[in-house]
Amino acid sequence: MRIVFVQFDDFTHLYSLCKIRSEGRVLRGSVLKVSSFLNHQLDPALIMELGKEFARLFSEPVPDLVLTVESSGIALALAAGTAMNVPVVFAKKHRTSNVFGEAYSSVVHSYTHDRDFTIIVEKEFIGNGDKVLIVDDFLANGKAVEGLLDIISQAGAVAIGAGIAIEKGFQEGGARLRANGLRVESLAIIDRMDEHGIVFR
Ligand code: 5GP
Repeated sequence: MRIVFVQFDDFTHLYSLCKIRSEGRVLRGSVLKVSSFLNHQLDPALIMELGKEFARLFSEPVPDLVLTVESSGIALALAAGTAMNVPVVFAKKHRTSNVFGEAYSSVVHSYTHDRDFTIIVEKEFIGNGDKVLIVDDFLANGKAVEGLLDIISQAGAVAIGAGIAIEKGFQEGGARLRANGLRVESLAIIDRMDEHGIVFR
């Protein structure tokens, strides 16, 4: 048995890392299933704490809105928006009949579905000059965040950063986004995962 000593800043980090380790399932194709607390069944207390952590990390400047992509980012974005007392907008993956107005759009390759989606946000929900905090559940190759950055730029708004619950540090998205100057704060970063377990950074 291998014992790993890690230093944690606070209880929320420790708790979420324990949840990932004990309940996360590593699927083929480098996909981590966290359906018991983040992606299907939701752990409200944990998610609200993660939202507070995003609010603490992104307290200056305070964003005008939190932006995510449906559907798995919504709970976290709502928690962050609640903690920051700002509106939450989620990009839709389908132009449904209740999208009437003009919309910004971007094409995003979905890591989990391995296909392209067009994500859209109605123009009225992001204003020119708005400071936008991106929030999402996972960061893998960075395509979802880049699609949101594209929409933010079309709106003439400014991305103040990205708050991510779980970053898979062995995939390229985080490094590329940071190299491009985006502030990325991930509450857990996984350096390696396989059938034997999960190694956090
Ligand atoms: P990216 O666009 O950074 O490649 O992937 C991020 C998006 O894909 C997230 O919005 C998330 O929904 C999904 N995703 C990527 N990797 C995983 C994973 O390992 N597990 C789960 N459940 N979703 C993932």
